Amino acid sequence: MSVTDPSLIPPAVAVEEIPRFDQFGLAPAILQALSDQGYVHPTPIQAQAIPIVLQGRDVMGAAQTGTGKTASFSLPIIQLLLAQANSSASPARHPVRALILTPTRELADQVAENIKSYSRHTPLRTTVVFGGIDMTPQTTALRSGVEIVIATPGRLLDHIQQKTVSLSQTEIFVMDEADRMLDMGFLPDLQRIINLLPKKRQNLMFSATFSPEIKKLASTFLTDPVLIEVARSNATADKVTQVVYKVDDEAKRDVVAHLIRGRDLKQVLVFSNTKIGTSRLARELEKQGIKASAIHGDKTQNERMAALEAFKNGSIDVLVATDVAARGLDISDLPCVINYDLPYNAEDYVHRIGRTGRAGASGDAISLCSDKDARLLIDIEKLIKQKLVPVELEGFVPGAARHTQTQREPEHRGEHRSRDAAPRGRERTPYMPPPRKEKIDPWFLKPYEATLSAESVAETPKDKTSKSAQPQKRAALLGGLPKS
Ligand code: AMP
Repeated sequence: MSVTDPSLIPPAVAVEEIPRFDQFGLAPAILQALSDQGYVHPTPIQAQAIPIVLQGRDVMGAAQTGTGKTASFSLPIIQLLLAQANSSASPARHPVRALILTPTRELADQVAENIKSYSRHTPLRTTVVFGGIDMTPQTTALRSGVEIVIATPGRLLDHIQQKTVSLSQTEIFVMDEADRMLDMGFLPDLQRIINLLPKKRQNLMFSATFSPEIKKLASTFLTDPVLIEVARSNATADKVTQVVYKVDDEAKRDVVAHLIRGRDLKQVLVFSNTKIGTSRLARELEKQGIKASAIHGDKTQNERMAALEAFKNGSIDVLVATDVAARGLDISDLPCVINYDLPYNAEDYVHRIGRTGRAGASGDAISLCSDKDARLLIDIEKLIKQKLVPVELEGFVPGAARHTQTQREPEHRGEHRSRDAAPRGRERTPYMPPPRKEKIDPWFLKPYEATLSAESVAETPKDKTSKSAQPQKRAALLGGLPKS
């Protein structure tokens, strides 16, 4: 694969020389939408990608959720499509011209929401299609004509099979979170979809990691891509306080409850490695009077959306999630993240704790480490180049939390029945989205570091609509970026 000389790529901008969106030649309708959002300055990935995408070049972007990558491809796509945008009622005048594939329903939904807001002052139509929900409204939207389609691969193939969508006029194809697509076994589906696209088109591929498999995929469908590298550093955010507690496996659930109750924690994201562990922990927390919900690949789309919404609006305090389910969710700047299990993949540790302590706020990352987790801790230490010494959790008496809870049960049962009622003596703190960033967080500018290999992930594919989706061993991560 040939990649443009990196010297041709605009360097990551220095914080004091941050460009503004109005310097890219974007249409007033797009600038208006950005201004509605309160965005003035592009993030580094946006500063680099927007001019290149506008030139019609293929792009291989090393970036993950949280870097502003969605706007980095959405804004120039809208600009490119605007030339032929029209308000005609005829579906034929609104063929699919841009297709964005994402591995998960949540990410598809988020990308679609972003694109809808960036294109709201234009006549361009956008729709999202993903599995787990009724196809009929999607069919209606597709049949009435839509220029921008965001989809998960399985459901898109279902629509293609039913002839509700044609991709024959697609000009721009985006593969978002390509690494996760491969992890989730979407390669055959992707190949089928790519085969249906016109040969002449612009391709944009984004991936947080660049394994040999990703490079191979990129070489098969990108043409002379420009490499854009703006990604999260593997160094953990300075503002995050990391603590590791030495805990017996059997005591872990009580420890989580003890920490949450003892510190009166709210808006806590708890990570578990398995779907079953996630559900069990959420149930146990609920039993102990803590408002919690689980989110993982076996939950229906509606259940996942409801849990996320409840977490964001503060009607639950704790969201227990697997890495796959949490990936791509726009939840960040949380006060506390708990690793109920240490992740199998050391890099996921960095992603997990990156949910807290961002945008200048401080955060706590608490990890529970049993004897079983000791080897995983070593991998994490190597990756972040930092020693994490497990300490005893003071004040925790195994079983005491349950006992205390039994005595308090009537009060907490009452709380459960009325989800809207605030627990006595505790104020509700609804989820506040990250503040609109007018200045670029220097975190975005940190260099990308190569790391170690990774192990398999414990979760199976979550887009059940994909018949070919099979659990696969996770490839080595962050093997560096291709030089040629
Ligand atoms: P993404 O990486 O695309 O998921 O974006 C992460 C978050 O940053 C989202 O909440 C975006 O709405 C927000 N965002 C994207 N671009 C900008 C920008 N230029 N300025 C401030 N916030 C942004």
